[in-house]
Amino acid sequence: MDKRDEIKPASHRNERGLPALAAGALYLVATPIGNLEDITLRALRTLRECDVVAAEDTRRTGQLLRHYEISKPILSYFRFNEAKRSEEIIERLRRGEKVALVTDAGSPGISDPGERVVRAAMEAGFRVEAVPGPCALVAALTASGLPAEEFHFIGFLPHKSGQRRKTLERLRNLNATLVLYESPHRIEKLLTELNEIFPDRSVVLARELTKKFEEFLRGSPAELLAVSQARSLKGEFVVLIGAANPVS
Ligand code: SAM
Repeated sequence: MDKRDEIKPASHRNERGLPALAAGALYLVATPIGNLEDITLRALRTLRECDVVAAEDTRRTGQLLRHYEISKPILSYFRFNEAKRSEEIIERLRRGEKVALVTDAGSPGISDPGERVVRAAMEAGFRVEAVPGPCALVAALTASGLPAEEFHFIGFLPHKSGQRRKTLERLRNLNATLVLYESPHRIEKLLTELNEIFPDRSVVLARELTKKFEEFLRGSPAELLAVSQARSLKGEFVVLIGAANPVS
């Protein structure tokens, strides 16, 4: 039997009749990607009822917790201390602690730290639960107007030009919507690359999702390149590229 099958769901309830958090469990809590209203009731309760919050940026998560009037010890867990901190988190789980993991924004593990401690917790036989919520790729894809039936998420492209081009070329014939994350200072570079590699595709730039200046820019790579040169686009972006042979 798989070790995980032995882990039973939490059965006891808290004082409000809601299922209590399980002792020795890791909770992956999605947090807002811009709009502070975008947090689930379960995410707030998990943050309130856990023993410790493992966070990518303790200062930023401190602000978020203060906003919701939650006071909790915060432990840093980011890309460069993932290995060491994973061990510490496993130790805490062993002591029966309930650990919530959050990143700066959105869903842990999606172009963000998380995977390592999830695997370590699973291998050590601990319960791991997602507390789902905001995720930039899902928000962008569902509002983009591009087919969402089959999509391929790349996360961030490599920084080096040759590797970026190779990755994009490898995906040229994939019959699915491509979704990627890009930083604002590389958006023009990306549109230039898309104009060379995918000149005839429909592209959507989903900018500043859930925030005051949210907008969706749609067009060919050449059209969007002209917009970005004219306006010098700022903020956070999800970039979506229509499939090679879209089904109508
Ligand atoms: N874990 C996050 C998630 O669930 O979406 C993603 C974290 S990744 C480090 C950050 C990237 O996500 C940004 O560079 C941008 O590409 C995208 N992103 C995050 N928030 C966004 C927003 N409000 N609007 C557009 N893109 C966003």
